[in-house]
Amino acid sequence: MLKSNPTSCSNAPILKERGQREVFCGLTSIIWLHRKMQDAFFLVVGSRTCAHLLQSAAGVMIFAEPRFGTAILEETDLAGLADAQQELDREVERLLSRRPDIRQLFLVGSCPSEVIKLDLAKAAQRLSQLYAPSVRVLNFTGSGIETTFTQGEDECLASMVPVLNESGQKQLLVIGALPDVVEDQMRNLLSAMGINDVAVLPATSAKHAVTVGKNTIFVATQPFLGETHSALERRGARHLPAPFPFGAEGTTAWLNVIATEFGISNERFEQVVSAPRARARKAISQASEVLSGKSVFFFPDSQLEIPLARFLVAECGMTAIEIGAPFIHKGLVGPDLDLIPEGPVISEGQDVDLQLDRVLKARPDLTVCGLGLANPLEAKGLTTKWAIELVFTPVHFYEQAGDLAGLFSRPLRRRAALSREAAA
Ligand code: SF4
Repeated sequence: MLKSNPTSCSNAPILKERGQREVFCGLTSIIWLHRKMQDAFFLVVGSRTCAHLLQSAAGVMIFAEPRFGTAILEETDLAGLADAQQELDREVERLLSRRPDIRQLFLVGSCPSEVIKLDLAKAAQRLSQLYAPSVRVLNFTGSGIETTFTQGEDECLASMVPVLNESGQKQLLVIGALPDVVEDQMRNLLSAMGINDVAVLPATSAKHAVTVGKNTIFVATQPFLGETHSALERRGARHLPAPFPFGAEGTTAWLNVIATEFGISNERFEQVVSAPRARARKAISQASEVLSGKSVFFFPDSQLEIPLARFLVAECGMTAIEIGAPFIHKGLVGPDLDLIPEGPVISEGQDVDLQLDRVLKARPDLTVCGLGLANPLEAKGLTTKWAIELVFTPVHFYEQAGDLAGLFSRPLRRRAALSREAAA
């Protein structure tokens, strides 16, 4: 079991940077959210650039009816010459009459809609009244102004919290969108421990009504849900701080916090976790041979940096040089910080030029960074891992622990193979 370290990073000074940043915008979250919420539609109110970003990120299939789209703001809208609210009403009317399967409609703000101060909250309220009870209309922002790409999910989930029905029942609410197969694994582990009253936000469908109240205990599977965390606390729910379920030990620690809260005996807990934990440890040790003793540097990108650094340091034998995160919400990532021994620079925000100077000086064995920085750093001889891949790949819980280690070891193996080839 993981033990918190008296000389951990939890009290380490944080290097705060407020310079130029290199991140994707929150619209990116729609790619995994629309797969998860099967009766939802995400209508981005944005420009052609926003539409291109979504289409290229999603690799839209021509046979499928996508559950996202863009209401394009034209130049006349941007110049304030047209009534964008009326145009939006017409767009929604067309969409809902063509797609009766839609139960939840999200109006998603973008940079252009924010620049012209288009009030999507007002639009969502008006349209909700018009289409209730068959369609619920909510709004959130996915704009690239001051956001990272995972904030889109946070904003989306936070927008749902105020409209969840009230419940006084003791229940566990798990927040964070997971691939269905991973969510099933999690539910099976909790149910084997005897915890069956488990709700997940976001639910796959509006008909699986998620409720909330002062006897709701919530736990996060994703570290980027700061706004959702605050919104749930405002509804009276209580947060269970826990290390995130990455790797064998992170997953065990996450489950253990829940088991303790729900009074599950140690014997029962061990019965449930011992076999999958042993499998996960074995898979990690095979995949992480190449990681042990190597150094890693995280650029701020997905907000998964601190829990993943904990996994690489505590379970794969790596040393962290710098762990950069766009935001550090200690209420969420504090338990992981507790488990990372003192040593790495912990940085929040970004000044990309200064950070590039630091990485080039440190020359880590592995650099985890955004897509835009990876190629230039590879050209400088550094080995990189795209942070965004860690969000699009199933990486949570025991059965994915080996794959998670494999995602980090693959670039190192590739670099070693290329060096061998070059030397031959
Ligand atoms: S929301 Fe902003 S950053 Fe994102 S694609 Fe649209 S214009 Fe670009």
